[in-house]
Amino acid sequence: MAVSRRKKGYYRAREIARERIERLFLLAEEEHLRRPDRSDRYVAIARRMGMRMRVRIPRRLKRRVCKECRCYLSPGRTRVRLRDGIMTVTCAECGEQMRYPYR
Ligand SMILES: [Zn+2]
Repeated sequence: MAVSRRKKGYYRAREIARERIERLFLLAEEEHLRRPDRSDRYVAIARRMGMRMRVRIPRRLKRRVCKECRCYLSPGRTRVRLRDGIMTVTCAECGEQMRYPYR
């Protein structure tokens, strides 16, 4: 009985964590023009929350974070090149190149 109740709370907590991660990325998006340092903080908080709650960050959001320096990748911070079905995103902060296939 006690175990199942705890488990239920755990699922609920992960659901809340997922919502918070979405919201943090929204905030990062809203703030990145004026305060890019804040967007980076929001993204760092979202990542930490995801790890602690074992919630996977959705792919579309993950692509908004540099995998090297972990900064928030706003359009102004990246160079995007499309070639042969591969999208190359270059981080303007650290120069890391991330490649994704696209249709
Ligand atoms: Zn970077």
